[in-house]
Amino acid sequence: MPPPPPPPRLREAPAELVARLRPMVEAGRCLIASDFDGTLAPIVTDPSRSALLPTARRALEQLASRTPVAVVSGRHAAILADLCPVPGVILIGSFGLERWVDGAARPVPRATAWLDRWGHSWDEVVAAVERAARGSPPGVRIVRKPWSIAVHCRQVAGARAALERRLAAELRLVARRFDLRLTRGRLVLELLPPLRCTKGTALASLLATTRPEGCVFAGDDRGDIPALRLLARGRPGLVIAAALAVTGPETPPALLRAATGVLAGPGVWAALLAELAA
Ligand SMILES: [Mg+2]
Repeated sequence: MPPPPPPPRLREAPAELVARLRPMVEAGRCLIASDFDGTLAPIVTDPSRSALLPTARRALEQLASRTPVAVVSGRHAAILADLCPVPGVILIGSFGLERWVDGAARPVPRATAWLDRWGHSWDEVVAAVERAARGSPPGVRIVRKPWSIAVHCRQVAGARAALERRLAAELRLVARRFDLRLTRGRLVLELLPPLRCTKGTALASLLATTRPEGCVFAGDDRGDIPALRLLARGRPGLVIAAALAVTGPETPPALLRAATGVLAGPGVWAALLAELAA
């Protein structure tokens, strides 16, 4: 097997990136956007114990008082609001299907329109997923969320690649039967509405409403790739667009290919945010 390609280097050193972005932050013309798990919070075996890094929390709060700051996650917006209770930060959940507004999760109109015409229920899907996962080793967790059903394999002991492949094949059939879309992340498979709603479309909508001169997005998993690609392509009016991959033990190679720069773990991203806020 050929060796994997080397990760892309930052097109500029983090210090230079910070120096160029700082005036835009001061002018309120820089959109700072980030994934949550594995990016602002280290990956943990039990996702309910995920915790925002204190350095990142302080930096996000300082930055949000000056410029648009958003956290874009696959988590339900209400859970994201618990995990990331930072004043002024825009919270987008369920891969862009909902936002946290005035203390409540608000689905985007096309999500509610889809639900109205769907013709199935999440209860039926959960039952089908449970049947599909029958016989799996201990540690496979089925998590029902308001806009999706996730199957986590992180708590399974030992080799998990074959298990993930088998579950993916089974869940593809469930997706077809219920007219859903199957996505794959780091040790998680997820069934979502079949809408073109990704972190890329969420970031595009943030760019359209905030119209910044600079934008940074950081993410660690496959679900972040559409946002990284969007920035790596550049946008009219964007003088600086930094698409950053935050690496960890299971970094997907496609994430590194999509990024314009690589940061070695959530601690490095938090440090960069703190520099930007200083
Ligand atoms: Mg993540």
